[in-house]
Amino acid sequence: MDIKRNLEDVLKKIEIAEKKSISGEKVELIAVTKTHGIDIIKEAIELGVTDIGENKVQEFTTKYEKLGNDVNFHMIGTLQSNKVKYIYDKAKLIHSLDRMSLAKEIERKAQASNIIVNCLVQVNISNEESKGGVSFSETEKFIESLLDFKNLKIVGLMGIAKNTDDLSEIRDSFRRLYNLKEKIKKQNIEELEMKYLSMGMSSDFEMAIEEGSNMVRIGSSIFGKRDY
Ligand SMILES: *Cc1c(COP(=O)(O)O)cnc(C)c1O
Repeated sequence: MDIKRNLEDVLKKIEIAEKKSISGEKVELIAVTKTHGIDIIKEAIELGVTDIGENKVQEFTTKYEKLGNDVNFHMIGTLQSNKVKYIYDKAKLIHSLDRMSLAKEIERKAQASNIIVNCLVQVNISNEESKGGVSFSETEKFIESLLDFKNLKIVGLMGIAKNTDDLSEIRDSFRRLYNLKEKIKKQNIEELEMKYLSMGMSSDFEMAIEEGSNMVRIGSSIFGKRDY
C-alpha cells in the first residue's frame, strides 16, 4: 500500500473540491486509522497527518497510549456512556454525540476533571436506524437541551451518508446538513460554536466538500481496504 501516494492524491482532490465548495472554507482531514497498526499510523504522521479518527474505544485507547503525544485523536464511532471515562480527556473531538444520556455522562466527567470536551452532534442524514444520530427534526431541540452544560461544548455537526449508488440522494442529505448547520450558526447562540461540519468519507468526500463540509473522515482511500 503506497500511503504516500494515496495521501497526496486525497489532498489534491480535497484542494480541487475546496474550490467548488459552497462555504469556501478550508477542509481539515481526519485520517481514519481504525483496524490499522501503529507502524502505519506513524508513517501517516511522518507524511504530515495531524489528526486521526478511531471508532472503537478499545482501539482508541491502545493507540493513544503509544501515539497520544504525536497526533490528535478523534472519536468518530458510536460511544456507549459507560465507556466515556476512557476517552473524554483524550479525544480532541467527539463526533458522535447523539443522545442525552451520553451528553450527561460526558458533562459529568468533564466537570469532575475541570476540562472542556468538544463534541459534534451526529445527525442521522441517511434515515438508516443502524447509523445512529439525531433525526433532522430533533437536532435543534437536542442542541437547545445541551446549552446548560458548561463543560461539554458543541462545536458543530456530523453526518454519515447513506450507502447507496444514488448520488443525488447523498448530495441532498449533505446539503440539508449544511443548511441546518448554517441555520443554527445564524442564531448566534452564545454557548455554542457552529464551526465544524464533519461529513464525507472515501466514497463521497469531494461531494461533501462541495456541499460545505470542512472536516472529512477518510480511511480506505489512504490506507487501503480494511479486512474487517
Ligand atoms: C470508517 C469510518 C470512516 C472512514 O471510512 P472510509 O470509507 O474508509 O473512508 C468515516 N467515518 C466513520 C464514522 C467511520 O466509521
